[in-house]
Amino acid sequence: MLNFGNKPTRQIKTVAQMVREQFLKVREANPQSPPLTQEQKEWLGQGPSRLPYPLAEPEPPSKTFEEALRGLRDEGFLASGKWNEQQHRANRQGADPRLIGKWNYRGDPSNPAGVRIEFVEPGWEQKMVRRMAKMGIPMFAHEVMRSGERQDQLKKAGKSKAGAGESPHQHGFAIDLIHSVKGWQLNDRQWALIGHQGKEIASAMGLDLEWGGDWKFYDPAHWEIKGWRSLL
Ligand SMILES: [Zn+2]
Repeated sequence: MLNFGNKPTRQIKTVAQMVREQFLKVREANPQSPPLTQEQKEWLGQGPSRLPYPLAEPEPPSKTFEEALRGLRDEGFLASGKWNEQQHRANRQGADPRLIGKWNYRGDPSNPAGVRIEFVEPGWEQKMVRRMAKMGIPMFAHEVMRSGERQDQLKKAGKSKAGAGESPHQHGFAIDLIHSVKGWQLNDRQWALIGHQGKEIASAMGLDLEWGGDWKFYDPAHWEIKGWRSLL
């Protein structure tokens, strides 16, 4: 059994990543492989992970938090298995374990099919996703690690202020958490509800997290470790 739990986790490779590598190896070895579908490309991290449906319409404002909660809940989606699948999409390789958790691998990493993952300690992400699920709200990490190329694209599109190298996503200190079905299309009260839960969990962990929903450049899906630049 290999125990990576106490090593600097910046070298950690998740089982999902090993499965992806294996998938690519098998494809390479087989010249008859059909071209990658869009879905496969996204799964391989060749683009941001997709939502299950075309982007939802923006949510109308909720008058109360009860109403906001009702709009967020989707027990059917949580039970469908798609929610579970979403949890494995984002590339987490090299991300801070306080965000993504720590784990052990059981088995031989050179044989991804035989590797089982075992959480040593959940990170903020797991605690948050579980708490939201308990409330009936399906969420997932849409993006954790990000390439410099994609960061530049986002800046050009006006979706981020940071260029290549300037985003905490490139250094593993940030995570974008979105609704499984409605994506980013939540109203302010719904985001506030999510923001409140996320802050409560971070504070219970003694983790100094900053929420993009508090920024002037409103980015409520975004969470980052405060002072991440000093950790580079
Ligand atoms: Zn972000």
